Amino acid sequence: MNLWDVKGVPHKGWKCEGVIDVGDGTSSSDEIEYEQCEMCGNEKIRYVHIMKHANYFRELRVGCVCAEKMSGDYENPRKIENALKNKLLRKKNYLRKPWKYNPAKGTYSKKYKGMYITLVRGRYDSWGIYCDKYRLWQVRGQKIKELKAAEALAFELYELCHRRQETMVA
Ligand SMILES: [Zn+2]
Repeated sequence: MNLWDVKGVPHKGWKCEGVIDVGDGTSSSDEIEYEQCEMCGNEKIRYVHIMKHANYFRELRVGCVCAEKMSGDYENPRKIENALKNKLLRKKNYLRKPWKYNPAKGTYSKKYKGMYITLVRGRYDSWGIYCDKYRLWQVRGQKIKELKAAEALAFELYELCHRRQETMVA
């Protein structure tokens, strides 16, 4: 259905509550469960813009083109989407660099852009992540069980350290 045609659905004055990448955490594009734009029904979207309106009963998950029209903002939706795309490229690059396994310690580590990242096997079959002076052993109270999850989280931690360093230089 195309909500642009439905009378009573506001066309303007929508606010963006955030943009999410529904492909995050997938390793190939075949795995991605693309969404359909809820406003126009056409766009097959990977980057979902969450839109809210005071006179509409629920939020809508839409593509970039509709998000621009709905908010009247023709700059930021694209900018946010590009920032997510850039992050994705950085992540791909990061994942390409292989880990070095240390059999004595049971750790995986790599030096990436001048920073040491180590995945440490903890007690109870969980993983810990060391990056710079930061240590991460759980996410929202949950232990990190999968090596793949630890690898992805290590990237987030690396980005956090990396950006911190950049601000310190600036
Ligand atoms: Zn749309």
